[in-house]
Amino acid sequence: MHELSIIIDLVALCEKNAKEQNAKEIESLEIKIGRLSGVEPHYLESAYEFYKKGTICENAKLIIHVQNIVVQCNNCGEKNELDKNEFLCPKCGSNKLDVIDGEDMYLMRLTMK
Ligand SMILES: [Zn+2]
Repeated sequence: MHELSIIIDLVALCEKNAKEQNAKEIESLEIKIGRLSGVEPHYLESAYEFYKKGTICENAKLIIHVQNIVVQCNNCGEKNELDKNEFLCPKCGSNKLDVIDGEDMYLMRLTMK
């Protein structure tokens, strides 16, 4: 399961950070998931609930932000958020678009004590 391996990496990252900061516990972790990342927030949550037991994240709240796809048009320079997987510039109709956000998943914030 793809989502479980993400959680395993995420918890490892939390443990590393906590160790560096001498923290005993993670209170919350906030992550951003791009719509194009292929990560399902719902599956990610279940994987987290399953995996966090006994780890430093046992009592930590997982907060997920879903990032829409943001593209910049190579033709007219317009920046837009796409709500569908339709890669056309809403302004000029060009398909020469660069994805500038919404592709990755990353850790935004970690609170610990
Ligand atoms: Zn355009």
